[in-house]
Amino acid sequence: MRTNIYLDIDGVLIAKGQRPANYVNEFLRKVLVEHPDTTFWLTTRCNDNASVPMHQIGHLFETDVQELMKNIKATPWKTSKTNGIDFSMPFLWFDDNLFHDEKRTLVERGVLDSWIEVNLIKDPNTLAKFINSFPIPSGRY
Ligand SMILES: [Mg+2]
Repeated sequence: MRTNIYLDIDGVLIAKGQRPANYVNEFLRKVLVEHPDTTFWLTTRCNDNASVPMHQIGHLFETDVQELMKNIKATPWKTSKTNGIDFSMPFLWFDDNLFHDEKRTLVERGVLDSWIEVNLIKDPNTLAKFINSFPIPSGRY
């Protein structure tokens, strides 16, 4: 099944102090080998230019992962990140924090389960669990 993957950066791939999150290289390899054509940035660091996050944070990742990350596409969005999501497709959205209106949109569309909460403060190794057990989108499409 084709699944769109949306990735936030800060608090998900990057921990406090601009350090790469634990297991982030393994996580990105998993995501980008399995979903090379359907992975998108969904972050304040990137609106319509996917090279911006790579310039800012690309150097923090291992070399082969940097190559894979060049496949991540931009997601144009304004105001709410949910404006950048294609709701006609199954998706997973890795983010540490949703605003009220973003959460409400997911609830209204019956796809709150597609938000995969990453909380590096509570569990710095959060990304490790997705490597062996990658989430599957549920909800209505
Ligand atoms: Mg964030």
